[in-house]
Order: sequence, then structure tokens, then C-alpha cells
Amino acid sequence: NVQTPIHERPPARLGQIGLRAKSVILVGSGKGGVGKSTVAASIALTLSRLGAKVGLMDADVYGPSIPHLLGLEGRPAISEAKKIEPIRLSREGITGQMPVMSMGFLVEPDQAVIWRGPMLHGSITQFLKDTDWGELDYLVIDMPPGTGDVALTLSQNVPITGAVVVCTPQEVALLDAIKAISMFKKVNIPIAGMVENMSGFSCPDCGKTYDIFGRGGARDKAEELGVPYLGGLPIDITLREAGDAGKLAEVVNQDARARDPFEKVVRAL
Ligand code: ADP
Repeated sequence: NVQTPIHERPPARLGQIGLRAKSVILVGSGKGGVGKSTVAASIALTLSRLGAKVGLMDADVYGPSIPHLLGLEGRPAISEAKKIEPIRLSREGITGQMPVMSMGFLVEPDQAVIWRGPMLHGSITQFLKDTDWGELDYLVIDMPPGTGDVALTLSQNVPITGAVVVCTPQEVALLDAIKAISMFKKVNIPIAGMVENMSGFSCPDCGKTYDIFGRGGARDKAEELGVPYLGGLPIDITLREAGDAGKLAEVVNQDARARDPFEKVVRAL
């Protein structure tokens, strides 16, 4: 619970695999394209700006977009202790250097990942277990959309603090989000709450707000399902441009219009 200052919280029980993190937060969605990776990265960046030691793991092995959003590249080295050295993000506003691990660092950008179930299971546990995460307050994990395999693998390996489910306000997207929630519940992962992304567009020129995909649907659904509603993020051109240009860290930590909605979400966690 972020209302209690991070450093005053007792350390959570360590994962069976030796991960040293007080909290593990999953970010999932029912389908792709709703802004899950943007939200996952931004939650990690915001927690870091607020003073926490944060790691970011991209478990969306089929469509790893975290490296691109953060403008990170490189090949993880193997340390003497046979650990995978994550790529470290160092930007203004970030506490220390944020370790980031993604399949995107291991395959060429235009190479498709065509692994099947057991290999997927292996890569996820390896990311968790063999990466030199150091000691973390939070490990934020960007989940692949939909499927339950990765959630199941994770729940069997580490105690998960909670899953954040990202959706857009449309009815179809909400139905997918409900499926994602029930999938997490099925593998005993607690729901940290719902985030409504692309919740209205406030026009920078005229100041009027347009509800392009509707608005408020996630809040109503969250209430109906008895899960917390963590807040909404408007459609923000700056955010899209930042993601495309690999400058999400700069924008989320510095531009007040992008920063404030994420801070609200993190404080509601
Ligand atoms: P997912 O992980 O769900 O597939 P992404 O985070 O990759 O989605 O986002 C998909 C696209 O939408 C990206 O181009 C991203 O920059 C953009 N995007 C996400 N959230 C917003 C937002 N609130 N405003 C504007 N663009 C957004």
C-alpha cells in the first residue's frame, strides 16, 4: 500500500527463487493496444521518482515494447556469479539506476518470438531468478495480454502483491478486462485494481474534453466487481510521441500533464 511510505513497510516474504523485492506488481490487460506497456513502464518510473528502488521486467515476450518506450538497447551481459546483468535505466528523476529486463534485449527487433508454452515458462522464470535485480522495493512486471500461462508461472514462483488491469472505456475492452481479472483470480493473484486508459481526450487547443472511447466504464465495472479503481489516464499526444521516440521516462517524470495522472494511480495502489 503506497499510502504507507515505501521504506517504512516491512519486507515482504522473499520469493522461493531468491528474488529480493518487497512488492511484485503485475500490469496486465485483456487485449493488446490498450496501453498496458505504457502504464507498466510509467508506474515503475513514477514509483522510482517517489524514491523507491524499482525493477521493471517485460514479460510480454511475444511483443516486448518496454525497451523501445524507454529508449533502451543493449545485450545483457552474464556476470561472474552467472547472473544476467539487466540493462540499467539512468535518467533524471530516477532513483539510482532502474534494472530493466526484456526479451527485446535478446532478439533482433524484427525477429518474431515463436516459442511454445514450456519455453515461455522457462524464459519467465529465468528472467526472474537469474537476473541480478539487486534489492528492490518494487518489481513491476509488464504481462503479455490475455493468456493465463505467464500469470500461472509467476504465481507459482513469487508472491505477487497485486495485478493492475489496464483497459479502455469501451464495452468490448471492458469485457476483456473482466476476463483478465477472472484469469488472475483463478491463479490466486490478488487484484490491485483497474486503470482506465484513454479515458477522454482533453484538447490542448480548445481545452474541451472529448470522450472518444466513452469514459467512466472502468470505474463502474470496478465497483460492480468489487475491485479498486485506481484512476483514469486521458489520451495524451505527448505520451504517444514520447513512447514512439523512446522518451517515456523523460515525459512521465517531468511533464506535469503526463506525470500527475500516473502519480494518482501509484498513490491509489
Ligand atoms: P499495449 O502494451 O497494451 O499493447 P502500448 O503501451 O504499447 O499498449 O500502447 C499502444 C500505443 O498507444 C502506443 O503507441 C502508446 O504510445 C499509445 N498510448 C498508450 N496510452 C496512451 C495515452 N494515454 N495517450 C496517448 N497514447 C497512448
